[in-house]
Amino acid sequence: MIYQDILDDRALQSYLADLNARARKCGANGELDVAGLRDRILASSGRCEWCGENLVRGTFELDHVVSLNRGGRNETDNLVVACPDCNRRKGQKHPARFAAEIFNSTGRRTILVDKILQHFMLEPREQLPLFAANQRTEDLSDTCDRNDQPRYRW
Ligand SMILES: [Zn+2]
Repeated sequence: MIYQDILDDRALQSYLADLNARARKCGANGELDVAGLRDRILASSGRCEWCGENLVRGTFELDHVVSLNRGGRNETDNLVVACPDCNRRKGQKHPARFAAEIFNSTGRRTILVDKILQHFMLEPREQLPLFAANQRTEDLSDTCDRNDQPRYRW
């Protein structure tokens, strides 16, 4: 979708249908509606909530912070506005892993990144080698079974 002054209802409806269909396919809980989606988009103030990039008049996507196949809910409090680049780079990664990546690559600590790093009590510069270099990361792995994951809300 394009972030603009007036959010086109048809674009929202079609995006919404896609999100809900994907969630059903993954067996995720929750169903989004247009009003919730619009509120969530406006709450981002037109910035990628991961990296902080300005999205006004640019393309944006909605990202499930805890991805659906990790047990994330298909609800507005598990959704953030993301630039296509962040959404693609994040994929199915654990949110803490991606938050550390963002901080280390951009040096920016957006509200979302800050919230996630605090939630997991990670100081990214010290903790990043953990993700890259050893196996003590079961709970942050990218391939965990969705049933093993607690349900987080943001
Ligand atoms: Zn971004």
